[in-house]
Amino acid sequence: MRFTIACPHCGARGIARAMKKESVTVWMIDFQCDDVTCGHTYRTRLEMFPPVVPIPMRKRNEPMEFAFND
Ligand SMILES: [Zn+2]
Repeated sequence: MRFTIACPHCGARGIARAMKKESVTVWMIDFQCDDVTCGHTYRTRLEMFPPVVPIPMRKRNEPMEFAFND
């Protein structure tokens, strides 16, 4: 599926061409107008809302060794 947003200059469809992750919840997405006579490129910012991760990230637990009595 193509991610598209109408070009703010001519109204033709703009297609997402590049995506850069800014943080865990924010992406910068570059669009390019599909109309060759326009060719406008524009940057958008995609942010999750609310901008918090539901489950806090945590360090992966190291395997525990069972303590058996000798
Ligand atoms: Zn355009």
